Amino acid sequence: MSDSESLVSCGEHGERNACFVCCHLKEGEALGFNLGYDPEAPDELYPAAWCDACEVLLEQEGEWTDRAQTEADIQLVCSACYELIRARNWRQDDEVLVELISSSFAYLQAQQERFMADYCIGSHERWDWDQNSGTLLFSNAGLPVVECHVDFVGSFSSRSDSWRWAWANDSFVEPIKARSREVRALGEELGLLSLACAQWPGDPVDGWEMTAVMARQLNAIGAYRVPSEAGFLYMTVRDARWVRPTE
Ligand SMILES: [Zn+2]
Ligand SMILES: [Zn+2]
Repeated sequence: MSDSESLVSCGEHGERNACFVCCHLKEGEALGFNLGYDPEAPDELYPAAWCDACEVLLEQEGEWTDRAQTEADIQLVCSACYELIRARNWRQDDEVLVELISSSFAYLQAQQERFMADYCIGSHERWDWDQNSGTLLFSNAGLPVVECHVDFVGSFSSRSDSWRWAWANDSFVEPIKARSREVRALGEELGLLSLACAQWPGDPVDGWEMTAVMARQLNAIGAYRVPSEAGFLYMTVRDARWVRPTE
């Protein structure tokens, strides 16, 4: 989300980010939800969107001609309304998502048991993460004991009760969030809203579900969640090692 994004005052949701959808999406349901990312802002939270009929017309016209624009009659809505409109119109095979999440949970659970046991993860005094080095460090009595290389998955915010993928979070450096883009690509391929869209209403359990999906996708050896300012930050673990004291 860039600072230049403008706000809109919604009668229902108050002051929110301004978003744009075609007039059909605003009123309809199950019309399909086509994302029109601005090439200048490929990670924006709420790209302009239009229905399948508008997409067909746009393809015929080749660009946003007067005819395509008139037909789409793009409307300004707030980001909360956008999320509702998106959920109502997005079409996907829910079975695919359910199967993906359950097999991913099975994968992560097995990995996690081993990770926790091998590195005594539950018994260290403190943890510190550093996004620049991409590490999660566990320590006891001020001395590092286990060092992990991690990839950020995303975060749950209790302020907005929403999930946001790491790739859409401006406060993370690219290397630590780059691999979350692999899940985004998978979501685009499978047409799954929760994997393909930057931010959506969710809870901490959704966070674990998305973390499991990413863990399996990346063959992670485990996952970890740390409290953040208002919510939780989720990460998958690439590798881990005991830090031997230097003689
Ligand atoms: Zn439309
Ligand atoms: Zn609204």
